Amino acid sequence: MREVADGVWQLGTRVPNLINCYFAGGVLFDTGTRRLGPRLLGELRGRDVTEVALTHVHPDHQGAAHLICSELGIPLACPAREVDRMEGREPMPAPNSYLKVVGALFTGPAHPVGRPLREGDVVAGFKVYDTAGHSKGHVVFHREDDGVAIVGDVIDGLNIFTGIPGLNRPPDTVNEQPALVNDAIRKLAELRPRVVCFGHGPVLRDPERLRRFAAALR
Ligand SMILES: [Zn+2]
Repeated sequence: MREVADGVWQLGTRVPNLINCYFAGGVLFDTGTRRLGPRLLGELRGRDVTEVALTHVHPDHQGAAHLICSELGIPLACPAREVDRMEGREPMPAPNSYLKVVGALFTGPAHPVGRPLREGDVVAGFKVYDTAGHSKGHVVFHREDDGVAIVGDVIDGLNIFTGIPGLNRPPDTVNEQPALVNDAIRKLAELRPRVVCFGHGPVLRDPERLRRFAAALR
Protein backbone atom coordinates (compact mmCIF):
# COMPACT_ATOMS: atom_id res chain seq x y z
CA MET A 1 0.00 0.00 0.00
CA ARG A 2 1.14 3.51 -0.78
CA GLU A 3 0.03 6.60 1.14
CA VAL A 4 -1.31 9.08 -1.44
CA ALA A 5 -2.78 11.64 0.97
CA ASP A 6 -2.94 12.07 4.73
CA GLY A 7 -4.16 8.69 6.00
CA VAL A 8 -5.30 7.59 2.53
CA TRP A 9 -3.62 4.49 1.09
CA GLN A 10 -3.78 3.22 -2.45
CA LEU A 11 -3.78 -0.52 -3.15
CA GLY A 12 -4.84 -2.74 -5.98
CA THR A 13 -3.44 -4.60 -8.96
CA ARG A 14 0.20 -5.65 -9.22
CA VAL A 15 0.46 -3.42 -12.30
CA PRO A 16 0.27 0.00 -10.61
CA ASN A 17 -2.83 2.16 -11.16
CA LEU A 18 -4.68 -0.33 -13.36
CA ILE A 19 -7.44 -1.10 -10.87
CA ASN A 20 -7.29 0.93 -7.67
CA CYS A 21 -8.77 0.55 -4.23
CA TYR A 22 -8.18 2.92 -1.31
CA PHE A 23 -7.97 2.46 2.43
CA ALA A 24 -8.82 5.39 4.71
CA GLY A 25 -10.22 5.73 8.20
CA GLY A 26 -10.66 1.97 8.53
CA VAL A 27 -12.72 1.72 5.34
CA LEU A 28 -11.71 -0.09 2.17
CA PHE A 29 -13.10 1.83 -0.81
CA ASP A 30 -13.74 -0.54 -3.76
CA THR A 31 -12.47 -4.09 -4.00
CA GLY A 32 -11.26 -4.68 -7.57
CA THR A 33 -12.13 -7.91 -9.36
CA ARG A 34 -12.85 -11.19 -7.62
CA ARG A 35 -9.33 -12.36 -8.53
CA LEU A 36 -7.82 -9.47 -6.61
CA GLY A 37 -9.30 -10.58 -3.26
CA PRO A 38 -6.34 -12.54 -1.83
CA ARG A 39 -3.88 -9.80 -2.80
CA LEU A 40 -6.01 -7.11 -1.12
CA LEU A 41 -6.39 -9.19 2.03
CA GLY A 42 -2.59 -9.56 2.11
CA GLU A 43 -2.06 -5.82 1.77
CA LEU A 44 -4.59 -5.12 4.51
CA ARG A 45 -3.10 -7.59 6.97
CA GLY A 46 -2.51 -5.94 10.34
CA ARG A 47 -4.82 -3.01 9.54
CA ASP A 48 -8.03 -2.41 11.41
CA VAL A 49 -10.59 -2.65 8.60
CA THR A 50 -14.13 -1.90 9.76
CA GLU A 51 -16.18 -1.54 6.54
CA VAL A 52 -16.07 -1.90 2.77
CA ALA A 53 -17.66 0.87 0.69
CA LEU A 54 -18.17 0.74 -3.08
CA THR A 55 -18.32 3.64 -5.54
CA HIS A 56 -20.43 1.41 -7.79
CA VAL A 57 -21.35 -2.20 -8.42
CA HIS A 58 -19.33 -3.14 -11.50
CA PRO A 59 -17.20 -6.34 -11.68
CA ASP A 60 -13.87 -4.51 -11.27
CA HIS A 61 -15.08 -2.71 -8.13
CA GLN A 62 -17.34 -5.20 -6.37
CA GLY A 63 -15.39 -8.36 -7.30
CA ALA A 64 -13.70 -9.11 -3.98
CA ALA A 65 -16.34 -7.52 -1.73
CA HIS A 66 -17.86 -10.84 -0.67
CA LEU A 67 -14.50 -12.43 0.13
CA ILE A 68 -13.17 -9.45 2.09
CA CYS A 69 -16.37 -8.79 4.05
CA SER A 70 -16.72 -12.49 4.88
CA GLU A 71 -13.06 -13.02 5.83
CA LEU A 72 -12.88 -9.92 8.01
CA GLY A 73 -16.46 -10.08 9.30
CA ILE A 74 -17.20 -6.49 8.32
CA PRO A 75 -20.26 -4.81 6.73
CA LEU A 76 -20.64 -3.67 3.14
CA ALA A 77 -21.87 -0.28 1.94
CA CYS A 78 -22.81 0.44 -1.67
CA PRO A 79 -24.94 2.93 -3.61
CA ALA A 80 -28.62 2.59 -2.68
CA ARG A 81 -29.68 2.21 -6.32
CA GLU A 82 -27.29 -0.70 -6.80
CA VAL A 83 -28.16 -2.77 -3.71
CA ASP A 84 -30.32 -5.19 -5.74
CA ARG A 85 -27.40 -5.80 -8.09
CA MET A 86 -24.92 -6.32 -5.24
CA GLU A 87 -27.28 -8.72 -3.50
CA GLY A 88 -27.81 -10.74 -6.69
CA ARG A 89 -31.45 -9.87 -7.43
CA GLU A 90 -30.51 -7.93 -10.54
CA PRO A 91 -27.95 -8.99 -13.19
CA MET A 92 -24.75 -7.09 -13.89
CA PRO A 93 -25.40 -4.81 -16.90
CA ALA A 94 -23.94 -6.35 -20.07
CA PRO A 95 -25.33 -4.46 -23.06
CA ASN A 96 -22.46 -5.58 -25.31
CA SER A 97 -20.17 -8.56 -25.80
CA TYR A 98 -17.22 -6.69 -24.24
CA LEU A 99 -19.05 -6.33 -20.94
CA LYS A 100 -20.35 -9.90 -21.11
CA VAL A 101 -16.76 -11.17 -21.19
CA VAL A 102 -15.61 -8.76 -18.45
CA GLY A 103 -18.58 -9.76 -16.33
CA ALA A 104 -17.98 -13.48 -16.72
CA LEU A 105 -14.28 -13.14 -15.84
CA PHE A 106 -14.37 -10.70 -12.97
CA THR A 107 -17.76 -10.48 -11.24
CA GLY A 108 -17.67 -11.49 -7.61
CA PRO A 109 -20.39 -13.27 -5.64
CA ALA A 110 -23.42 -11.47 -4.30
CA HIS A 111 -23.19 -10.15 -0.75
CA PRO A 112 -25.73 -8.53 1.61
CA VAL A 113 -25.47 -4.75 1.88
CA GLY A 114 -25.47 -3.36 5.40
CA ARG A 115 -25.59 0.29 4.44
CA PRO A 116 -27.17 1.72 1.26
CA LEU A 117 -25.36 4.96 0.40
CA ARG A 118 -27.14 8.16 -0.55
CA GLU A 119 -25.93 11.70 -1.21
CA GLY A 120 -25.09 13.45 2.04
CA ASP A 121 -24.07 10.30 3.91
CA VAL A 122 -20.61 10.28 5.46
CA VAL A 123 -18.12 7.40 5.26
CA ALA A 124 -14.86 7.68 7.22
CA GLY A 125 -15.07 11.49 7.05
CA PHE A 126 -15.82 11.49 3.31
CA LYS A 127 -19.13 12.94 2.15
CA VAL A 128 -21.10 10.93 -0.40
CA TYR A 129 -22.14 12.58 -3.70
CA ASP A 130 -24.51 11.08 -6.25
CA THR A 131 -22.70 10.92 -9.60
CA ALA A 132 -24.89 8.56 -11.63
CA GLY A 133 -24.04 8.02 -15.29
CA HIS A 134 -21.18 5.55 -15.59
CA SER A 135 -23.46 3.40 -13.44
CA LYS A 136 -27.02 4.14 -12.37
CA GLY A 137 -26.17 4.68 -8.71
CA HIS A 138 -22.50 5.71 -8.86
CA VAL A 139 -21.24 7.76 -5.92
CA VAL A 140 -18.01 9.60 -5.15
CA PHE A 141 -16.52 10.20 -1.71
CA HIS A 142 -15.11 13.66 -0.94
CA ARG A 143 -13.23 14.76 2.18
CA GLU A 144 -13.78 18.48 2.49
CA ASP A 145 -10.94 19.15 4.99
CA ASP A 146 -8.19 18.47 2.46
CA GLY A 147 -10.03 17.94 -0.82
CA VAL A 148 -9.32 14.23 -1.27
CA ALA A 149 -11.86 12.60 -3.59
CA ILE A 150 -12.32 8.87 -4.25
CA VAL A 151 -14.07 8.97 -7.59
CA GLY A 152 -14.47 5.43 -8.93
CA ASP A 153 -15.18 5.60 -12.65
CA VAL A 154 -16.86 9.00 -12.92
CA ILE A 155 -13.71 9.93 -14.80
CA ASP A 156 -10.71 7.76 -15.61
CA GLY A 157 -7.08 8.68 -14.97
CA LEU A 158 -5.99 6.53 -17.89
CA ASN A 159 -7.36 5.16 -21.14
CA ILE A 160 -8.88 1.86 -20.01
CA PHE A 161 -8.18 0.21 -23.38
CA THR A 162 -4.57 1.38 -23.93
CA GLY A 163 -3.46 2.04 -20.34
CA ILE A 164 -2.01 5.42 -21.33
CA PRO A 165 -2.34 7.87 -18.41
CA GLY A 166 -4.40 11.03 -18.79
CA LEU A 167 -7.89 12.25 -18.05
CA ASN A 168 -10.50 10.31 -19.99
CA ARG A 169 -14.28 10.33 -20.08
CA PRO A 170 -15.18 6.65 -19.55
CA PRO A 171 -16.05 5.17 -22.98
CA ASP A 172 -19.76 4.71 -23.61
CA THR A 173 -19.27 0.95 -24.10
CA VAL A 174 -18.97 0.82 -20.29
CA ASN A 175 -21.43 3.59 -19.31
CA GLU A 176 -24.93 2.66 -18.22
CA GLN A 177 -26.39 6.13 -18.71
CA PRO A 178 -24.10 7.90 -21.21
CA ALA A 179 -26.27 11.04 -21.25
CA LEU A 180 -25.52 11.68 -17.57
CA VAL A 181 -21.75 11.08 -17.63
CA ASN A 182 -20.70 14.65 -18.45
CA ASP A 183 -22.96 16.08 -15.74
CA ALA A 184 -21.34 13.73 -13.24
CA ILE A 185 -17.83 14.84 -14.27
CA ARG A 186 -18.88 18.50 -13.97
CA LYS A 187 -20.39 17.84 -10.53
CA LEU A 188 -17.12 16.30 -9.40
CA ALA A 189 -15.07 19.17 -10.84
CA GLU A 190 -17.26 21.69 -8.99
CA LEU A 191 -16.09 20.17 -5.71
CA ARG A 192 -12.58 21.36 -6.71
CA PRO A 193 -10.92 18.21 -5.35
CA ARG A 194 -7.22 18.70 -4.71
CA VAL A 195 -6.34 14.98 -4.76
CA VAL A 196 -8.33 12.84 -7.21
CA CYS A 197 -8.14 9.10 -6.51
CA PHE A 198 -9.39 7.25 -9.61
CA GLY A 199 -10.66 3.70 -9.98
CA HIS A 200 -8.26 3.49 -12.92
CA GLY A 201 -5.17 5.67 -13.28
CA PRO A 202 -2.56 7.45 -11.17
CA VAL A 203 -3.67 9.91 -8.48
CA LEU A 204 -4.09 13.45 -9.85
CA ARG A 205 -2.97 16.47 -7.83
CA ASP A 206 -3.90 19.17 -10.30
CA PRO A 207 -7.37 20.61 -9.65
CA GLU A 208 -7.01 23.03 -12.55
CA ARG A 209 -6.58 20.19 -15.03
CA LEU A 210 -9.81 18.54 -13.93
CA ARG A 211 -11.61 21.88 -14.09
CA ARG A 212 -10.41 22.50 -17.64
CA PHE A 213 -11.36 18.98 -18.73
CA ALA A 214 -14.87 19.40 -17.32
CA ALA A 215 -15.28 22.84 -18.86
CA ALA A 216 -14.40 21.48 -22.31
CA LEU A 217 -17.15 18.83 -22.20
CA ARG A 218 -20.24 19.61 -24.23
ZN1 LIG B 1 -17.29 0.85 -13.65
